[in-house]
Amino acid sequence: MSMSYFDQLNLTGEEKRGAALKRASELKKTIVEYTENKFSIKTGTEMQEITGLNKERMLHYFNASEKDWDDWRWQMSHRISDAITLEDLFDFSESQCAQARRVGIKYRWSISPYYASLIDSFEDNDPIRLQSVPSIEELDESGHSDPMSEEMTSPAPCVTRRYPDRLIINVTNQCAMYCRHCQRRRNIGETDRHKPHRSLLAALEYIRQNREIRDVLITGGDALLLDDLKIGWLLGELDKIKHIEIKRIGTRTIVSLPQRITPELCKVLKKHPPIFINTQFNHPREITPESKKACDMLVEAGVVLGNQAVLLKGVNNAPDIMKKLNQELLKIRVRPYYLFHAKHVKGTGHFITTVDEGLAIMEKLRGYTSGLAVPAYVMNAPGGYGKTPILPQYLLGRQDEVIRMRTWENRVLEWAMKPPGKKCGGSVETYLKQGMDGYLPAISD
Ligand code: SF4
Repeated sequence: MSMSYFDQLNLTGEEKRGAALKRASELKKTIVEYTENKFSIKTGTEMQEITGLNKERMLHYFNASEKDWDDWRWQMSHRISDAITLEDLFDFSESQCAQARRVGIKYRWSISPYYASLIDSFEDNDPIRLQSVPSIEELDESGHSDPMSEEMTSPAPCVTRRYPDRLIINVTNQCAMYCRHCQRRRNIGETDRHKPHRSLLAALEYIRQNREIRDVLITGGDALLLDDLKIGWLLGELDKIKHIEIKRIGTRTIVSLPQRITPELCKVLKKHPPIFINTQFNHPREITPESKKACDMLVEAGVVLGNQAVLLKGVNNAPDIMKKLNQELLKIRVRPYYLFHAKHVKGTGHFITTVDEGLAIMEKLRGYTSGLAVPAYVMNAPGGYGKTPILPQYLLGRQDEVIRMRTWENRVLEWAMKPPGKKCGGSVETYLKQGMDGYLPAISD
């Protein structure tokens, strides 16, 4: 039997430790820049001074109390949706308010006081403002209204089906805030409307008749804007269908209206496991004590939390912002799940990034931070053909049983896939030599 590369080296313990220290020092260098940068990317928790002042101003303006502020129904009934209130509350320029007025004629907008309190009006490219306050660029007419062809994938009322074993029930067009980048803005319409009970019954009947469906996503709009009774009823009806294994809920309230996560709602959710909730944090500034509390309550109710961020120009299209976002999400027990490549929905063209930007972000995540903090970068294929992963290329080539790979650090290696004991053309040895290149002494032939 031939000796392995390491056997041939016959290293002492001290030499092995020396190699490990050299390697650790090189790894450390790869993260120095981010370690310095991350402190300049503030979370919402670190912006409490500004947030607190905004909140105080709004409570005074609406003549409201702390108790009102913590009540999600008060938040909903005091959503800011006109330029005059915006002008009264924030130091925005006349032009910004005029833009909101003009865009409002064409597209609905509405911001919960809580989400508005996160705005830093002194920052020109404030990520909270960009996502919530209308900009004149929305009037650009280019783009599609339904790039995912959702209207062509609805076999029953309220149902969207794009995959073999799962489907979506759309329960409402209402949201706590109408995000300026919304990919479903055509659903938002003019008025808030929950789906009629008879449509939900028809959706349930479709699920009953299709036994291959094992996973149902309840979404909208925002599914958690239904009242607790309706949510409990729908989850209960799904529980009665034997072939339904899991239920999912799509909501951005954790980000835009965390007051919606009440003990009463958690009690309802706790009764219907297993429930997975996916939300949409797009920037670390959205992570606040309130959103953390909402996540804690949901986790304690047995809900599994995931995040579906949208890649947005000017908001989060930078590797360090995305890395910090994902790391902060793990701290509040939300697993980064997807990073969506935003498509050109009419009125959202100013948020669109290139795929190259998305790939560059993924390159800076994989290997540089915990795998748990690395979401899947996906694009919804046109025509309703579903989420399609877009990955940086790590598999460079393959010849018979030998694959050529590129590691997260850009080391190009070869690896033989033949099982041990079989002749593998020496490529495992090549791999070891390449992998440890620079850390261990070279073997003389
Ligand atoms: S919460 Fe979701 S559906 Fe509602 S406006 Fe925002 S992105 Fe669109």
